[in-house]
Amino acid sequence: MYLCNNNENNMRVNVRQQQHRLTLLLLGLIAFTTSAWAQLQPGDEQLPRATATASAPGPRVITGSNLTIDRKLQSLAFSLIKGKQGSIIAIDPSNGEVLCMATNTPSGENVDMAIASALEPGSTIKVAQALTLLSCYEVDSESAVTCNRGGYYGRTHVGCHRHKSPIKLEDAIAYSCNTWFLTYFQAMIADRVNYASQDEALTTWDRYMRSMGLGSPLGIDIPGERGGLLPDVDYMNRRYKNHWNERTIMWVGMGQGDLLLTPLQLCNLAASIANRGWYITPHIHKLTAATQEQYTTRHETEVSPLFYPIVIDGMRKAVTSGTAAGINTKAYTLCGKTGTAENSGKDHSIFIGFAPKDQPKIAVAVYIMHGGFGADLAAPIASLIVEQYLKGSLSSASQARAKRIAAKRLFAAPTPEAKK
Ligand SMILES: [Zn+2]
Repeated sequence: MYLCNNNENNMRVNVRQQQHRLTLLLLGLIAFTTSAWAQLQPGDEQLPRATATASAPGPRVITGSNLTIDRKLQSLAFSLIKGKQGSIIAIDPSNGEVLCMATNTPSGENVDMAIASALEPGSTIKVAQALTLLSCYEVDSESAVTCNRGGYYGRTHVGCHRHKSPIKLEDAIAYSCNTWFLTYFQAMIADRVNYASQDEALTTWDRYMRSMGLGSPLGIDIPGERGGLLPDVDYMNRRYKNHWNERTIMWVGMGQGDLLLTPLQLCNLAASIANRGWYITPHIHKLTAATQEQYTTRHETEVSPLFYPIVIDGMRKAVTSGTAAGINTKAYTLCGKTGTAENSGKDHSIFIGFAPKDQPKIAVAVYIMHGGFGADLAAPIASLIVEQYLKGSLSSASQARAKRIAAKRLFAAPTPEAKK
């Protein structure tokens, strides 16, 4: 019986590996056969390999016509992620179609980086936190904290960016104020007026966050997707042997500690905000009669549409004058949130966003491991993806920036897994 199960598991793993290989082949093929960006780095040694595999498997691979992928976008994303570990994902928020999904690791492409890597979201989670805190009436637009480069929690000091103080919700998003989010998330868990217990408070928080597609597999049509970790009462009781309080869980307020999400979930979160409260399950294959219903159904979040505008204003301000001001442009109204996940080596660089602000056409998530601050690498990459998609090409200044990013190599720092 045991052996039988083992064989079954092995078979499942093999089938999954084969399916992954096929998806990678399709994504790589699309990138390499799109002439505009294949020319970005002439003489690339990988080009003949990809061309050679083109005619191998079957008609699906040769045409790639059953994928929702935008060929030029995939090709650009593929160039930008070279030499880096992470993923670049873009989704059309109006229909859930995946527009690009480029992944890379020191040992090559791996779709798991996008759909199965459970990673700290860093400050990108603050947009979902704000929506949840607003929905639970823990805060409103006027809720303010005093923050002068951070604050103390017991003996622990948590630093913050330089910004004006006191700071309210919209600016707390734009300038990514750790103090604001640590203060109000803890206040919600400790709130004994609206909740009979901290268990009830956390369960309520969990319900809102899950309704935004966080913490469980979304159901993308690629095998192997994982759900990550969104802490609930059972998890906290097990992890901390029934001894936890708002201080134990406070790091989740700023996207660290007991909170792990996939880059796909982060991109879908950006899509749900772009839509002011709903998303369609992301999918990479064009619809068939069999998949029509699953991939056209709207999933409404539990957040009232009333609360989206202020969070979106904060995301817009992050780009016009906040933590992502370096990518501001008059060419399109990008709304976004930077994130930096602390790491034993160099920090991970993260950005989620969408554009244009009104009637959005693209949501994007970029997660670059060891890429530094969110504004260093992830935000510039996201802005290039958005520009390419909305404008159909890159300006000459953006082309120069794309070449610089494409040439950047970050593989020096080993991953924590590799150190073990
Ligand atoms: Zn602050």
